[in-house]
Amino acid sequence: MRAIWQNIPKNELRHQYSTLKKSVEKCSKHFGCSDIPIKRALKEYGIPVRTHQQAQQLRWSNPEHRKEMIRKLLAGQTHPPPSEETKRKISEAQIGKKSHWYGVRGKDNPNYKHGKSKRHRTIRCTAEYKQWQLAVFKRDWYACQRCGVHQKVLHAHHILPFIDFPEERFTLDNGCTLCPECHRYIHTEEMQNG
Ligand SMILES: [Zn+2]
Ligand SMILES: [Zn+2]
Repeated sequence: MRAIWQNIPKNELRHQYSTLKKSVEKCSKHFGCSDIPIKRALKEYGIPVRTHQQAQQLRWSNPEHRKEMIRKLLAGQTHPPPSEETKRKISEAQIGKKSHWYGVRGKDNPNYKHGKSKRHRTIRCTAEYKQWQLAVFKRDWYACQRCGVHQKVLHAHHILPFIDFPEERFTLDNGCTLCPECHRYIHTEEMQNG
């Protein structure tokens, strides 16, 4: 008896997975089976499997998937967007004044959790990094995008991880303003999901 994966034609799988860059999940729908035979067939046919990082990058480059990633990240948010009045107050407060998020050290320093090496910490101290962070805060109206809190200490979270995606380090789209509590929550969730 043939195993399920053996009924998956090699060329068609290569076309779906490698050429059309469909995910394992999408391929399983295409072939009408679960993801286990798909993974097995990729291995048996010697089709190079994308790493988690490559898969993430691929999702990110697709605007639809990008929206979905952000939606997932902010799932459970309960706050309404800031009112025009709040926005105006924030703008006025920022005029002619250096952001008070600057110079926040240690545990409250944005993205402190990612600092795994001296080199990465150094990058976080650069003007380019601070500029990116400020741009993210400004775009998000200095509010946590998950719970909506406006407070002194906010973090600029990298949606695609800072360490793994150097080319996305300073992309505005890759940043998301979070309060320390939501930031911690998101990283715990990510770890649980592997
Ligand atoms: Zn929050
Ligand atoms: Zn983060």
